[in-house]
Amino acid sequence: MERSLKYTKLRSGHTSRRLFFCMVIIIVSILYISIPLIIHTYHEYVKTKQALTEIIGLRTLVKTANQISKERAPSNQAMASQATDLLRNVKKLEEHRQIVDAQIDQTISVLKENGFESIALHLQTNLKLKLAQARAEVDAYIQMPSQQRTSQKFDHAILSMFAVWDVNRDFLKLLMTQSASKDSDMSNYFTSILILTDMRDQAGRIASNIIAPITFSEPISDENRARSLQTQHQAEYLWSLVDTLQPERTKTPEYIHLHERVKTEFLDQGLPLIGELLDQSKNAEPYSLTGMQLTERMVGKFTTVMDLQNYILDYSFEVVKQQNKEARQQFIFTFGISIVSLLTAIFTMSYAKRRVFQPLIRARNMILSLSNSSTEQSINKQSRQEFVSLFEAIEKLKSILKQRELMESQLKQIANSDVLTGVANRLALEEYINLLESKPEGLSETCVIVVDIDNFKFVNDQYGHIVGDQVITMIADQLRHNVRASDLIVRYGGDEFLVVIESIEMNAAKAIAESIRSGILKQNIIISSVGELIQVSVSIGVAIGAESWLELLEKADQSMLRAKAKGKNIVES
Ligand code: GH3
Ligand code: MG
Repeated sequence: MERSLKYTKLRSGHTSRRLFFCMVIIIVSILYISIPLIIHTYHEYVKTKQALTEIIGLRTLVKTANQISKERAPSNQAMASQATDLLRNVKKLEEHRQIVDAQIDQTISVLKENGFESIALHLQTNLKLKLAQARAEVDAYIQMPSQQRTSQKFDHAILSMFAVWDVNRDFLKLLMTQSASKDSDMSNYFTSILILTDMRDQAGRIASNIIAPITFSEPISDENRARSLQTQHQAEYLWSLVDTLQPERTKTPEYIHLHERVKTEFLDQGLPLIGELLDQSKNAEPYSLTGMQLTERMVGKFTTVMDLQNYILDYSFEVVKQQNKEARQQFIFTFGISIVSLLTAIFTMSYAKRRVFQPLIRARNMILSLSNSSTEQSINKQSRQEFVSLFEAIEKLKSILKQRELMESQLKQIANSDVLTGVANRLALEEYINLLESKPEGLSETCVIVVDIDNFKFVNDQYGHIVGDQVITMIADQLRHNVRASDLIVRYGGDEFLVVIESIEMNAAKAIAESIRSGILKQNIIISSVGELIQVSVSIGVAIGAESWLELLEKADQSMLRAKAKGKNIVES
């Protein structure tokens, strides 16, 4: 028993270890699949977040670049002003400078916020310094008495403003160089934006490059002409690049509309103005526009370039924002699903262990111990043999149950039968009566035959109880011999038997009774001790149908008593 208990613990421990091992494999597999997925989706999320901050940085730097380009217009106007409108134009310039300064400060803080500290620092120092120098040159020119002014000095101040933009462009380039998104599908947007920024500035320079000689009504020098034409070609070249680089799927109706406007307003209307002035200079004709008028006419033409640029900026910002949102959702989803799968696996395994395997192991151990199988036998054997021993135990249990069933039915039979003769006793009769009385037809067709041995006391007295018992046994045999197995034979009293037959008519019942009586009479019992033969007879009473069992029995008993009274050894009904 102790060994068996020890073995059971050993077995359970073994199975638990196996289950634990399976659980570890499942968990490791889930982790093996989910961890790379989580890492991948997280990287995607970080990448799109990075692209978002880069595009924010780019947007703010581009705005600054445009504002610096734009400052050239009021600068040129202030420098080209006659005394009458000088004050007004200087005021306009001051106002614009404030806008530019605010824009630079905002750009610095946005860059800092988004992790571009070094570029922000460059803006704070280099750009502001360069801008201050250029503005000082412009201011110096404005304050210069008109007789000291020359187109070269004017042009010099313009070139210093160009230099400010060039510094800002370096920062744009720096941001692009640092950008992680330049390798992604965002790179085309970035390039388009950069090209449009360049183009906007080059476009501005086309007029700025000739404004000084125009203002002074001097012929345009070869250098100024070359610079103007060069910037014009550059602007046209950059323009051709914009459309080539822009991905087809992003050419929305709005993009097409803005693109068309740049073409008609800037290229088709703006550029010919410059060409005209260049021709007039070449032909020594008077200029059709003053420097002031040229600036005013050209300013409006750049707006279209900036509109297109802003559109691409906003569009790409929205695309990246959406990508970032999707990547975040994807990451959260992947992470969530992995955690849920992991928890489900752990829960399922521990649930299965507690609710399925452990009860099964207990049940198996119980079967083995109930069947008294030698559990030690299967220690160290393979699981197949374990099952063999389990099935053997079940078979053994089955046969034990069968034996018990047989024993129970035998016990029941013993309890219901008479020890001496083996026929039913009064206990069995009572059960049978209950069964009969529960039937709808009741006892109406039930027949009771009462058989009582005649002068049995005499047999006992004369030959002893052993012979008496032999006689009783012989009577029971005769009853068995004359009735069907389905009829009930009961030893009712000492020398009294009952036969209960269902659904029988009186004549048939009487015939059976007669056959019993004559059969018994023919049986001679040999008394071996004295070598004597004895003959016994029986008196039989027959009755069929009554309201109750007692009534039926009473009727049959009365018939039997009548038989006794009539001299015994007869059948009465
Ligand atoms: P009657 O013809 O009127 O029936 O007379 P009887 O002698 O048979 O009288 P009764 O039926 O009253 O007697 C039954 C006797 O049967 C009494 C009893 O001693 C005897 N007896 C009862 N049970 C057994 C038994 O198991 N074995 C033996 N040998 N005798 C028994
Ligand atoms: Mg009797």
